[in-house]
Amino acid sequence: MFNKILIANRGEIACRVIKTARRMGIATVAVYSDADREALHVRMADEAIHIGPAPARESYLLGDRILGAALATHADAVHPGYGFLSENAGFAAACAEQGVIFIGPPTGAIESMGSKSAAKRIMEEAGVPLVPGYHGDDQDPELLRAAAQDMGYPVLLKATAGGGGKGMRQVWSAGEFDEALAAAKRESAASFGDDTMLVEKYLTKPRHVEFQVFCDNHGNGIYLAERDCSVQRRHQKVIEEAPAPGMSEALRKEMGDAAVKSAQAIDYRGAGTVEFLLDEDGSFYFMEMNTRLQVEHPVTEMITGQDLVEWQLLVASGSALPLTQDQVRINGHAFEARVYAEDPDNDFLPVTGTLGFLQPPEESAHVRVDTGVRQGDEISVYYDPMIAKLIVWDESRERALQRLASALAEYRIGGTVTNLDFLYNLATSRPFVEAELDTGFIDKHSELIFHERHQDLERELPLAALALLLHKQQQGAQSCLDPWSPWQRNNAWRLNEPHAHRLTLHCHQQDHPVLVEQRGEDYIITAAGRETRLRGELQDDTLHLDAEGHRQRGTLARTLDGFTLYLTEGACHFREVPPDTGEADGAGTDAGLAAPMNGTIVALLAEVGSPVDADAPLLVMEAMKMEHTIRAPAAGVVQSFYYQPGDLVDGGAELLDFAAGEE
Ligand code: ADP
Repeated sequence: MFNKILIANRGEIACRVIKTARRMGIATVAVYSDADREALHVRMADEAIHIGPAPARESYLLGDRILGAALATHADAVHPGYGFLSENAGFAAACAEQGVIFIGPPTGAIESMGSKSAAKRIMEEAGVPLVPGYHGDDQDPELLRAAAQDMGYPVLLKATAGGGGKGMRQVWSAGEFDEALAAAKRESAASFGDDTMLVEKYLTKPRHVEFQVFCDNHGNGIYLAERDCSVQRRHQKVIEEAPAPGMSEALRKEMGDAAVKSAQAIDYRGAGTVEFLLDEDGSFYFMEMNTRLQVEHPVTEMITGQDLVEWQLLVASGSALPLTQDQVRINGHAFEARVYAEDPDNDFLPVTGTLGFLQPPEESAHVRVDTGVRQGDEISVYYDPMIAKLIVWDESRERALQRLASALAEYRIGGTVTNLDFLYNLATSRPFVEAELDTGFIDKHSELIFHERHQDLERELPLAALALLLHKQQQGAQSCLDPWSPWQRNNAWRLNEPHAHRLTLHCHQQDHPVLVEQRGEDYIITAAGRETRLRGELQDDTLHLDAEGHRQRGTLARTLDGFTLYLTEGACHFREVPPDTGEADGAGTDAGLAAPMNGTIVALLAEVGSPVDADAPLLVMEAMKMEHTIRAPAAGVVQSFYYQPGDLVDGGAELLDFAAGEE
């Protein structure tokens, strides 16, 4: 086994590889760009080498520099992760030349699968079923159009050098063909420096089902079940699951054998994925083979109980596969949701930002979070905007899906736009729950998935107001060192604070006036034309809410311009609009001069009818063996006191009538 490996990648996959290497007693070397000086993968590795400026072209894609780092640190092998150099045959060859093991397949296998059309020709020869299509070298537009006509519309144009859904166009009729071909070629040339196209029959309701394969240097090749990745946006995976719903043992074996046959046709080694389109009638077609570890490999790990990175390291160092085909067991069901900084309402455009607040769900045997970022890290323009992969497991699909929904609801991210609500809506939508999967899922069910998860102002405003008030009290308490001081209590009582608070909250693009009155432990909150009675306690950033017996927990996070309150139903963003101190309108400041709790009136300090300044002491009462002073909420006049010294009062009782701003 290796003593030390270098990870030629960043983010979650670099962290993921480091974890397994550490568990196996293998030392790790990270590489990093200027933008990643403080990144988690750099912190986690035993050593780290700076390789250049932020843009990937000048750092993570520079094979020579990375290989130089491996040689300088005496790493035995390089793990390329996915993306970047992972499917770069030139880099794999350069590693081999320098005596550094490339943890991946042989150069020849990468080359064979690098072109979609060459790959299809190899698979055709090996007898693996293909989608009917043309994948020849002759690129005469007339010939391509004739091929489309022969196979019948709709057809799909695909860049042979393509990946990530780029350079792909559906064509529904002959009339659209020329324009679509030109567009696909332009996109392909721009993305891959090559505009060779293939044409294939476009299946209208297929599922994307892929098989995890593994081969070693001892002639063994097996598959580790399949993943269903049908839920895609712009041909990119969003939620993946394993096993594929409804997969029969017979079909799994047939497809799995075809996958292993595909791998063996190119003399494969290590981890690979064979992607198929599975049609409604159960026919399946080879689509492509990815010669690396996939982003979604964790769902396979969860249902097989294996660590695929460990397998990669074993195979690359010459060991045989740990299991035979017969020993592979499928246990339960797993989902992976890709959490992105992106805007689902704006065509999933990536969004940048600083992760000012980051609270993933708690990890357990059921919940796994693979991430490369911490609170305070930046999602920059330079790299993929993935924040994390959320992976869940349980005994059945139904239970795993429940885990997914609750883990998504608990995931709290502030400081950037994310697809969390979108993922939650998707995961809880009826067609997804019922596994009505095909690659058109998101388009077909867009109204279900794109609805706003939280639009209920009436419900949110009081909670936001209470959260803000408790936050302010907490801030006050933190500045006081006496543990016996009433400031340290988290209940309603606050010395010297008026018991009616008028706030203006900016929420859902509008300012909303809110009145909060304290009555004992209760807060009566009037907002959006409705009165709500709540109790609450804020411990650190966890908010415990009690709405007349209905309790729930939320999280309050400070953001750059305000707050985010995370509740099970979604997140609510708000900020306080500072009070307009210029003019006292006098209205309403008399509200809520109430006893904070049961107690006895001790003294009346102001004269009825005489003007007092704001904050002037008006009345002292005793409660819980302490004296509490009620002060004037503004300059004004006490119109009358409702109690006399010695009187017992109930918490919440109005104590006096105060008119602000009057002579
Ligand atoms: P890329 O390498 O760019 O990701 P793929 O060939 O893997 O491209 O295809 C990506 C996705 O496009 C598939 O998962 C599937 O949803 C869709 N797709 C590809 N080929 C076809 C086809 N012939 N018919 C229908 N959908 C297809």
